[in-house]
Amino acid sequence: MQPQYRIGEGIDRHALEAGRRLLLCGVEIEHSHGLRGHSDGDAGLHALCDAMLGAAALGDLGAFFSDQDAANAGRDSRDFLRDVVERVARSGYRLSNADLTIMAEAPKLAPHVAAMRAVIAELCDVALDQISVKATRGEGLGPEGRGECMTVRAVVLLTREETA
Ligand code: MG
Repeated sequence: MQPQYRIGEGIDRHALEAGRRLLLCGVEIEHSHGLRGHSDGDAGLHALCDAMLGAAALGDLGAFFSDQDAANAGRDSRDFLRDVVERVARSGYRLSNADLTIMAEAPKLAPHVAAMRAVIAELCDVALDQISVKATRGEGLGPEGRGECMTVRAVVLLTREETA
């Protein structure tokens, strides 16, 4: 049996808006600003979805969940990830690991990383040690550093066990 490996990358950036709920990697975080978006704005889960879809060469999240579709307005991004996990499974792959890097000036994300990893591991039906979430600050530079947005980058490895 030859395992097949597929690497995928996903990047998502959402603007920060005062007074909006902040949802990141499926976790609600207390903050003055939240991520603007047609859905719940969870750039973490969006980047992860795109990385998984990319690895399986299935397209991108927007192709399945259009931001023009009223059905996706305010949508819980965990729904998107559940759908993507199913699509990837149907194509014969499973997630080996995911590594997410969140670029955000504020708030401090370290206290929330454990909860984010747990949410993602559960949604992807993998062990906690297969999911990594890291956060980095922008040192005041660029739109993330100025607190205008958050950007998340996700890298995943999918594996398929060949039966032939
Ligand atoms: Mg997005």
